[in-house]
Amino acid sequence: VTEPRRFWAHFEALTRIPRASLAEGPAIEHVRSWAAGHGYEVAQDSGRNVVIRVPATPGRKAAPTVILQGHLDMVCERDPGSPNDPAEGRIELVRDGDWLAANGTTLGADNGVAIAAMMAIAEDESLAHGPLELLMTVAEEIGLVGVNKLDGSLLSGTVLLNLDGSDDETLVVGCAGSADSWLDISRGRQPWGEKDVALAVTVTGGLGGHSGADIARGRSNAIKVLGRVLREASEAVRFRLVSLEGGKSRNAIPRDATAVVAVSDAEGFTTAVERAATSVRSVFAKTDPALEITVATATLQADAWSENDTGTLLDLLAIVPSGPLAMSPAFEGLVETSTSLGEALTEGDRLTLHSLTRSSNDPALPDVIATLDAAAELGGGRLRVQQNHGGWLPDLDSPLLALTRQVYRELFDRDPEVTAVHGGLEPAVIGGKVAGLDMISLGPRIEGLHAPGERLSISSVERFWQLTAALLDAMSRAPWP
Ligand SMILES: [Zn+2]
Repeated sequence: VTEPRRFWAHFEALTRIPRASLAEGPAIEHVRSWAAGHGYEVAQDSGRNVVIRVPATPGRKAAPTVILQGHLDMVCERDPGSPNDPAEGRIELVRDGDWLAANGTTLGADNGVAIAAMMAIAEDESLAHGPLELLMTVAEEIGLVGVNKLDGSLLSGTVLLNLDGSDDETLVVGCAGSADSWLDISRGRQPWGEKDVALAVTVTGGLGGHSGADIARGRSNAIKVLGRVLREASEAVRFRLVSLEGGKSRNAIPRDATAVVAVSDAEGFTTAVERAATSVRSVFAKTDPALEITVATATLQADAWSENDTGTLLDLLAIVPSGPLAMSPAFEGLVETSTSLGEALTEGDRLTLHSLTRSSNDPALPDVIATLDAAAELGGGRLRVQQNHGGWLPDLDSPLLALTRQVYRELFDRDPEVTAVHGGLEPAVIGGKVAGLDMISLGPRIEGLHAPGERLSISSVERFWQLTAALLDAMSRAPWP
């Protein structure tokens, strides 16, 4: 049994090196000079991603080249009063039993684990492996920015092990691709009515969550709730929409949304909103019980949309889908296709609705985009679409998956969980640039990622190390695949 000794030295060294997203310079220097010290060939693309070529160990030259991959950047969060700051290379390690954490800050196990593991594997003369390409990407944490600029021609490997997993009992073999879209609709504005008052309807208190991973958990979408409440109220009371705003990020289920309306019958409007709110809250009584819908007076503004156009805008909010749309045929309970209305914005006479649509099954995505486009057409608006990366479709017949399962069983005497995620992972982008890659994602147990309190299980690092080492050995023993 091999011990991850050099791993911990490399991991600790990384805690003293600043590596915030887009500020990975010192970390890039660190791995480049390490590679130079060992005589490894280094390449870097215009996106600043680093590829380090490590020769095969004796007798394994003919084996397929394996790409080991992880990201150099980390989320640099800290408690306000903490003297430590990862962005300046001040992470203070704290050990509590099996857990390694950082005092007052993120730990950077996501994804320092991958970088330390690659360096330790390359140096460990007791391990056997074929030719390795160590792919270290940048700016992963701000939306897979670095890997999107990856020059695929730097890689010759046919197998990729992504070391950015966070559970040593789980192998991840797929993820979703995505597209952003913005539905813009502009309508002329009319002056304020003499008897009008301004009221603000606010939706708040929902749980929110990740727009992919949490999309099928029955969480309320504040913008959709606001739209429904206003549309129901419009059947009882006449009013005009002044503005509608909600959501803070494309990547989160919106927790807050506010609309300002111009209305002459303030009391009737408030009653109608409260009636609609009672019905909407009961929808989420079990899954999002703290949802709140309130009416308050607001400041008068210059103009508003007409009653007719208000009707059109509320129809659009009703028709724009948000939620899970298809489940994965490979994994029970996993969403394959979804769309999330993440942001609403009023600018002058224009309302914009920003959605993030995801699918691990690429051909399913255009259908959802067509729905959004049709909604825009019917409402007299326009849809702008930005395709991000494609999906990583799970391949349950993959030779790499079969071998990993077998090696895992031999080592631990049980089966690993095999699953996919409904979010974006770097292998999806790499797979789109390097044809025919067989890929898997694994890692040790990391909890509380991206916030102070992030912690790494020490014993799981040992299992992660043994699995990776045994897998590299098995893959380099002819004939495979
Ligand atoms: Zn990560």
